[in-house]
Amino acid sequence: MKALCWNGTRKLNVERVSDPSILNPKDAIIRVALSSVCGSDLHLVNGFIPTMKAGDIIGHEFNGEVVEVGSEVKKLKKGDRVVVGSVIGCGECYHCTHDEWSLCDNSNPNAVYQEKLFGYPTAAIYGYSHLFGGYAGSHAEYIRVAYADNGCFKIPDGISWEQSLFASDALPTGYMAADMAVKPGDIVAVWGAGGVGLMAMKSAWLKGAARVIAIDRFDYRLAYAKQECKAEIINYSEVNVLEELKELTGGRGPDVCIDAVGMEARSSNKLEYAYDKVKQNLRLQPDRAAVLRQAVMACRKGGTVSVVGVYSSLVDSFPMGILMNKALTIKSGQMHAQKYIPHLLDLLQKGELDPEFLLTHKWPLDAGAEGYKMFNDKADGCMRVAFNP
Ligand code: NAD
Ligand code: ZN
Repeated sequence: MKALCWNGTRKLNVERVSDPSILNPKDAIIRVALSSVCGSDLHLVNGFIPTMKAGDIIGHEFNGEVVEVGSEVKKLKKGDRVVVGSVIGCGECYHCTHDEWSLCDNSNPNAVYQEKLFGYPTAAIYGYSHLFGGYAGSHAEYIRVAYADNGCFKIPDGISWEQSLFASDALPTGYMAADMAVKPGDIVAVWGAGGVGLMAMKSAWLKGAARVIAIDRFDYRLAYAKQECKAEIINYSEVNVLEELKELTGGRGPDVCIDAVGMEARSSNKLEYAYDKVKQNLRLQPDRAAVLRQAVMACRKGGTVSVVGVYSSLVDSFPMGILMNKALTIKSGQMHAQKYIPHLLDLLQKGELDPEFLLTHKWPLDAGAEGYKMFNDKADGCMRVAFNP
């Protein structure tokens, strides 16, 4: 089959690889209908996650048709249309049975490496490096889905491939960002008007937010935030974000600050730090936690910072003193796909959510490298490109 393979930093090629097969009786093979780029892939493409190997198939936001099931798969049959969660959960360990699917003890065959780095292993993710299990990704004609009964969700009748695609990742991630933090009446600020940030904004309203404020630098993305997500907008390249947020909240600050950017945050020239020493220190190291620090600074005293933007470093310059003295709560995590997808498909079917506007480009898999370049450059009004292998 054809697949889009990682071959080094910003080197992607469509290659011929062998078709996947059932390796475990709980597996299913899916013929991919749509497979989209995600901000998380950019960390792989841009070389921020070191445990990639040449030839790895990337991609983890996808849907498709079941073409084969293992002998222990009970809920699926050939021909089912399914959307698949990007994180893999066994369904039986302590964490899966407590609805913390991205913390699964058993799905990552390379658990030993994660245990050394994190203390405990976390769940595997499709197409997301060997640290996260080394599973082949979805930018391919077919994919092997492990623990298929847990990971595959039938697409309700009347819902198209395009409408259901983002229930795989961007939507549950944004929803989780809000679910972890937002209470009725909250003012919610969201850094990053990408697929994840926009879904967090929509979800914040569902959780009862009183106001939603979006922060980004791309006007076309802020326009989606305003029109699709009814957010007030801040262009961080034009104003001082901290001052603007204070101004907008009567001096108190947002109740909830959501980081939907992660480690590839562009530093804003307007960032201000409390101490000159901190400033000097930061200049000596790559500044990968710019949004996280800004969120901690901007959050009202006693508020909550919710982090779904991905960080891969083991040590970041993180303002623990500010967090502690302001009595902030921090929430974070890779999303618990299996916890949220059924509810979100239900909302899609009722017409209460429609993430399809994120699909600005639908291209053949052969254009994979160009698709990632466009997405990385935020060119041509791109929110997300989906490949239809
Ligand atoms: P995206 O690249 O489409 O969007 C990121 C946005 O952040 C861009 O619009 C960019 O302009 C903006 N940005 C950059 N620097 C900023 C700054 N200083 N202030 C405000 N905005 C800034 O990516 P996406 O698909 O929306 O993903 C966003 C993040 O969520 C990524 O880190 C991704 O890895 C992560 N993610 C996490 C999970 C999870 O399970 N936790 C799942 C999917 C994605
Ligand atoms: Zn598990």
